Amino acid sequence: MKTNNLGYPRIGSNRELKKASELYWAGKISADELIDAGKEIRLKNWKLQAEAGVDLIPSNDFSFYDQVLDLTLAVGAIPTRYHEMAKSNSSLDLYFAMARGSQKDGQDVVAMEMTKWFDTNYHYIVPEFTKNQKFELFSEKIINEFKEANAIGIKTKPVLIGPVSYLLLGKEKEEGFERIDLIDALLPVYFEILEKLQAENTEYIQLDEPFLALNLSDKERNTFTKVYNEINKRFPKLKVVLANYFDCFGENLETALALPVDTFHLDLVRCPSQLDDILESGKLAANVNLSLGVVDGRNIWKNDFQKSLKLIQKATAVLGENRILVAPSCSLIHSPCDLDLETNDQTLTPEIKQWLAFAKQKINEIVLLKKFASKEVDVKFSADYERNVVANDNRKTSKLIHNNEVKARVAGITASDDKRKSTFATRRKSQIEALNLPLFPTTTIGSFPQTAEVRSWRAKFKKGELTTEQYNDLIEKETEATIRFQEETGIDVLVHGEFERNDMVEYFGEQLSGFTFTKNGWVQSYGSRCVKPPVIYGDVSRPNPMTVKWSKYAQSLTPKWIKGMLTGPVTILQWSFVRNDQPRSETCTQIALAIRDEVVDLEKAGIKIIQIDEPAIREGLPLRKEEWAAYLDWAVKAFRISASGVEDDTQIHTHMCYSEFNDIIQNIADMDADVITIECSRSQMELLDAFADFKYPNEIGPGVYDIHSPRVPSSEEMVKLLEKASAVIPVDQLWVNPDCGLKTRHWDETKKALIEMVAAAQEMRAAV
Ligand code: GLN
Ligand code: ZN
Repeated sequence: MKTNNLGYPRIGSNRELKKASELYWAGKISADELIDAGKEIRLKNWKLQAEAGVDLIPSNDFSFYDQVLDLTLAVGAIPTRYHEMAKSNSSLDLYFAMARGSQKDGQDVVAMEMTKWFDTNYHYIVPEFTKNQKFELFSEKIINEFKEANAIGIKTKPVLIGPVSYLLLGKEKEEGFERIDLIDALLPVYFEILEKLQAENTEYIQLDEPFLALNLSDKERNTFTKVYNEINKRFPKLKVVLANYFDCFGENLETALALPVDTFHLDLVRCPSQLDDILESGKLAANVNLSLGVVDGRNIWKNDFQKSLKLIQKATAVLGENRILVAPSCSLIHSPCDLDLETNDQTLTPEIKQWLAFAKQKINEIVLLKKFASKEVDVKFSADYERNVVANDNRKTSKLIHNNEVKARVAGITASDDKRKSTFATRRKSQIEALNLPLFPTTTIGSFPQTAEVRSWRAKFKKGELTTEQYNDLIEKETEATIRFQEETGIDVLVHGEFERNDMVEYFGEQLSGFTFTKNGWVQSYGSRCVKPPVIYGDVSRPNPMTVKWSKYAQSLTPKWIKGMLTGPVTILQWSFVRNDQPRSETCTQIALAIRDEVVDLEKAGIKIIQIDEPAIREGLPLRKEEWAAYLDWAVKAFRISASGVEDDTQIHTHMCYSEFNDIIQNIADMDADVITIECSRSQMELLDAFADFKYPNEIGPGVYDIHSPRVPSSEEMVKLLEKASAVIPVDQLWVNPDCGLKTRHWDETKKALIEMVAAAQEMRAAV
């Protein structure tokens, strides 16, 4: 039996890579210094895994920005706009220009597109393909890193995205071809890479083909068969570990099992049932191994050794120990680095800490599991095993986790709890009467600029350099100035500006029971950007109102309506590490009830308009289409529970950022928010078509300007967009607002843009 790791975090346990990259981009350190920083991280990671006793240690899992972009460079799929740069610049600068765009020395090129890596919060750089796409070996990073590890005596298993998934991850940049048809042009470069690796005596290579977990066309499936047979024909001695993760093989199982590879890696966290499917199918060839992904690579919980050992033993009983590898479910780049660095006992108490494992600890878990499963260590005499059992038992009963009141409340939810008192048509009449808003009412999405100053107040407050009173005073002044600005500008529905919030999820998590925070639990989101998701460890409840004070304060300053501002249950869930001891839907429902209480309290405090942001609804969609309905069912219900505690004349808004709505428009309508605001301007209102075609019945605010850019749009531009919108949506359903919150913008451009926006709304009203 062996241990097999699929990838280790490359950001460094103290975010060394982030720091070095940003210094390099700012011109403060040299390319050599950045390259050294990368090398140091790689060597550290390899040594750590070797010392822990990992047998198959990955290389080429390191990246200065993104592993997909690395491969794009390796196979020379460099879009034409960078060709000039490719001639004159260093390959590192070319690489970063592709990742981030570049404006220097008279060169001006935009970045390649970025999108989410499957259903994770990691973003990759999307390969761009043309009809006559040429591929050539352009970068030997994969070979160099293998040699680099060899030089310190560690023979690694290079990791590469497989050719089929690589093509499917990309986009066609012109008409008239399908990217999967580029396989014949691409394969020779893979062969070249494999030849070079073989010349270095590589024994194993990991090819990641996560698309095997998705719904594929016959052609795509057949391409897998063709590709892996050819690889096997040319490299019969190379041991290919074919890695699938994030879901089951599903209907691709038979195709997959027929591929001539050395080892299949299975994600048994996301799909534990596929082990039985495979063992019972009898379709696994006699000499093929299974890498069992039993340790969750995407969450922070300590493994349950008893449960994992059962799975491993099931496999060894059929296949024998020699054909089994123990592994994390996927690459550990989705885990924070090292739990040992969490030394803040106040937020992460010792009791909670004993339930957790980050990447470094997960490595130990796979090694221990192998030792136990192969009887190298007898569990009866193992303190590690004992500790694991105790921690998992403790989790099942801990008072920190289990709150019977919350459980009873969830169990007692009735059919009426997720329904407003009346239908939208009736509510609308009460709201028109109560709110008295003009046609094309103007509003913003919530946040106003989070200036360096505002952030410095929070930092000082946290360090104890400002008292609560001083801090609140500063926030009050900023809020008041923002209210005055909105009044002067003539905005109809005002917001308080969210100055008291660090982040739209963290702010709520800090006030809810069942949440905690890490000091150093960073995970790469894209490039040098890392996120530190809250940890939901227990039943969620809301001990006290969370936002009422600020909304009430803002409302006290003005006769205009203040819109209360909340983050919705699905988004809070989606952007946190979620407990694995109950279904996500259950946790989401608990959060929904907490938000519902907040909504009701806001209403009691005189807030008549309340926005519940759900920008993450779409990204929560499962990978396989057949699972969509179940997810949408509980997600929409959670939103409705959070929104349905109020009277008819209280207006509930929701907000969603850039996402396609076509295939989920019915579900969005089912959310039944009185008003939805969506990011729309970059698509020139195209995203609105889904709502128009559907005859979306409620009110809708299509964003009229892009908040990601400092550019100030003119009122004419916005009028054009609004005219486009009025052509497809009845005017009495339309609102006027920016695409999203303004927290990343400067005041100067914000003021100018909003003045233009109000002018645009006035022009639209005058024209009706
Ligand atoms: N209310 C939040 C804001 O304005 C919404 C942010 C978001 O949609 N991501 O910042
Ligand atoms: Zn948004």
